Parts: sequence; C-alpha cells; structure tokens
Amino acid sequence: MMPESPAPQAPESQATQDARRAMEVCNACRYCEGFCAVFPAMELHRDFAKADLSYLANLCHGCKGCYYACQYAPPHEFGINVAKSLAELRQESYGHYAWPQALSGAFERNGLITALAMSGGIAAVLLLTLLLQQSANMFGVLPMTPGAGFYLIIPKAVMTLTALAAFAFALLALAVGFRNFWKESGPAKVSFGDIHQALKDAASLRYLGGAGHGCNDKDGAFSNQRRYLHHLMAYGFLFCFAATSVGAVYDLLLGWPAPYPLASLPVLLGMIGGAGIIVGCAGLLWLKMAADRDPQAPSLLGADTGLLLLLLLIAITGLLLLGLRSTSALGVALCIHLGLVLSFFLTMPYSKFVHGLYRFGALIRYAANQRPHQ
Ligand code: SF4
Ligand code: SF4
Repeated sequence: MMPESPAPQAPESQATQDARRAMEVCNACRYCEGFCAVFPAMELHRDFAKADLSYLANLCHGCKGCYYACQYAPPHEFGINVAKSLAELRQESYGHYAWPQALSGAFERNGLITALAMSGGIAAVLLLTLLLQQSANMFGVLPMTPGAGFYLIIPKAVMTLTALAAFAFALLALAVGFRNFWKESGPAKVSFGDIHQALKDAASLRYLGGAGHGCNDKDGAFSNQRRYLHHLMAYGFLFCFAATSVGAVYDLLLGWPAPYPLASLPVLLGMIGGAGIIVGCAGLLWLKMAADRDPQAPSLLGADTGLLLLLLLIAITGLLLLGLRSTSALGVALCIHLGLVLSFFLTMPYSKFVHGLYRFGALIRYAANQRPHQ
C-alpha cells in the first residue's frame, strides 16, 4: 500500500520568515537578552514554529531598544530589524486569530475601516434621531432632571439595548479571538502565580520602563514618555468604564436614573477618565508621528493611529457633552458622541485594541515558561 502523502501546507508569509530569520540570528548573538521578555523567551527555543513566533511577536511591545543596539541592523548586510519584523508578524497574527474570519481583512486597512466606522456610526445615530425625534427635543434646551435630559432625545431603552448589543458582540468576538490565540500559543499549564505575575507586568507596563531609563520612544534616546502616556490612556479608559458601571448600579439597582449632577461619582469618574484619555492619546499620537519610522511596521500605522484617534474623539465629545448639556447643542453633541462610541464597540475586535488581550496571554505564557518546574 502506498504511504499517504502529508497534507500540503500553506506557504509561510514574508513576515513569518523575516521574524524567524531575526530570531535565529538573535539566538546566536544574545546581546539584547536583558532588554525585554522576548529575548529570554526566545532562548528557550532552538527552532521557531509559527505559533512560537506569534507568541514572541505578541510579547514584544515595540520599544525599539533592540534596533538601536543591534550591530546587525541596517545598513549591515544582515539587515536585522527585530522591532519591525515582530511588529509586522504581530499585525498579521491579529487577523489570523480574529473571529469571524471573514472580518480578519479589517486589520489590513485599519485606518480606513476606523474612519468609515466613525463616520457611519455618527451618520446613523444622527439620521435615526432626526427621523424619529421631534425637533423641539433634538434642538431644544432640556431639563437635567432624573430620567430627562438626553433620554428625551434618545430613549433610555434604545440607548441601553443598542449599547448592550454592540458590546456583547465585541466581547464575544474578543473572547473567541483570545481562545484562538490561547489554543495556538498559550502555555500547557498555568498557575495562579503566572496570572498574577502577568497582571502585575501588564498593569505596570513593566517592559516599557526598560531598565529604569525608559525606552527608545522616538529615536536612539531613552525616555519614559510612552509608558506614562500609555498609563494615562489605559487608566483613563478604566475610569470611564468605572463611571459607566457606577451609573448602571445607580440606575438599575438603586433607581437613580441619569443625568447626574456634576459633583456625583459617575460624572467625576468620567471627567477624570476623559482627561486621562485625551492627554494619553494625544501624546501617543504625537510620539507616533515624531518617531523614527525605520523600526516601525508601516502596516501597523493605520491600526495604531486609528484607535488612538477614535478614543481621543470619544473623550473630547464626552466632555463636550457634559459642558453643553444645558444648551440647545445637546442633541447634536449626543448623537456625535454616541455614534463614535458605537463605532468603537463594533470595531474593537478588529482594531489595535486586541493587542492588550494577546499581549496579556503572551505574558502568562512567559510567566509559566520562566517558572522553575519540578
Ligand atoms: S537584535 Fe541584534 S544585537 Fe540584539 S540580540 Fe538580535 S542580533 Fe544581537
Ligand atoms: S522592540 Fe523592544 S520589546 Fe520588542 S524585541 Fe526589541 S527590545 Fe524587545
């Protein structure tokens, strides 16, 4: 009987081949082994399967330190550019793990997709509200008493159900994407200690601090700007999430419907969070534009800037909404803000937002692999 021939394998992408070549050279050199988690993780391998490279790519946070330190970086004939090679593979892995797969191509044109989603979201909310709402409510000055205010423009049930449906879809797509990553790249065994370590590293952005002097945010000089700005953006986001959660408890459990006074907990949390997002995202956008392009992946630029811009606009319109809530501009400001929030929920699983999830999974695998095994 003739032996069965193995199933044909899909050809490897250029990004996978470049990342493997870089890791093989680095594994022989090891000059950068103290720079970040990627190098100690790499040293546990002699060969690099596609899933291992994907894990290493998601463990890298693009500090670019290895590019400026590398004696084999361009113009050397080896042309080693670990930061760029791993960034390109990271971008490719986002599409590979995405669910549903039919939408994985969204990562390739992320800037365009985000722009279309933003304008589509705003247009849809504005149009529907104009069609369904009386102009006295849409363009009037509304009382800011409990259950009134913006609920007189978009009814509470419509606002809540639309947000819940979009959020539930985003959560489902993110969860399936993470499961895909985990099945391919997650560790075989995980302890609570590994998760705790990964949480600590993620919450403190440990590897963006370098060895205390920071990273190569813009060029060969070290700074902590990217780490601090990322903290402002991420914790700002968590403050806004806390504001929404407190509002939901007030309304659903305590029977205190919005709008809330300026000095209330949900509004204060939202203002602090919004300010953090504005400073963090604007600063990160500026850093991105000012940074040396050589160690960056051009394919990631749209995804990076698209998400930052969307979060920045959501925070700005959220604070504007607060300032305009006792004026006749409330209706238009509300529709623009909610349109942007809707587009954020819908594009969340197909945007740079997924990097936090996969990097967290990679940090867990790193902690599990570095733990001494009996
Ligand atoms: S990036 Fe360059 S210097 Fe650093 S380990 Fe790799 S080959 Fe060596
Ligand atoms: S870019 Fe930074 S995080 Fe990525 S491999 Fe190089 S040193 Fe490590």
